[in-house]
Amino acid sequence: MSKQKIEKLLIGTKNKGKLQEIKNLLPKYIEIHSTSEFDLKSPVENGKTFKENSLIKSKYFSKKTGLLCLADDSGLEIDLLNKNPGIYSARWGGKKGDFNKAIKRVYRELNKKNKNWKHKKIRARFICALSISYLDKKIACVQSKVEGIISNKPKGKNGFGYDPIFIPKNRKKTFGEMRPEVKYKIDHRHFAFKKLRKFL
Ligand code: IMP
Repeated sequence: MSKQKIEKLLIGTKNKGKLQEIKNLLPKYIEIHSTSEFDLKSPVENGKTFKENSLIKSKYFSKKTGLLCLADDSGLEIDLLNKNPGIYSARWGGKKGDFNKAIKRVYRELNKKNKNWKHKKIRARFICALSISYLDKKIACVQSKVEGIISNKPKGKNGFGYDPIFIPKNRKKTFGEMRPEVKYKIDHRHFAFKKLRKFL
């Protein structure tokens, strides 16, 4: 059976940083729609995993708009913090999604665990789950990651979220210090997209 090409796709995120990055990763022939074109609230993300939360979003936005929807759920796992903030990464920024607040909390929690943490390698990884749904039907769901360590102070003004405190493996700069074109080629969303490509 020949695969039908996707013509129209809604990106189920309200995060402008993610929307831009996802747009850049998609084939140019797809007509992209964003949630800002519709008057939509966000669904309650009560899944226990990145994949579950991603499916909650893609199904919710698809049902609300009648469009095929791609959604992601992503976050930062820090080993010393028992993999937190993990699926709570956005929530650590509070109701206003204040990323400075989220970063301060990371440092506070690391200090609580080990006063000497700045002299150690604090292993961490960004995870990204991506799903495509049509109404209540899952079309695809994949997950990928990028390994790294936590910087002992925030560095760089690029990107969003925890970018200023994450140094990917074998690199010296944080994501926040990298030009977006450089980050986009090595991050968790890029690798998840590679897995998703066969569905597009
Ligand atoms: P959600 O997937 O919208 O629930 O939120 C994921 C949260 O994880 C974001 O709000 C950021 O705090 C964080 N996050 C996910 N991906 C990245 C990234 O590429 N850079 C920095 N922070 C990220």
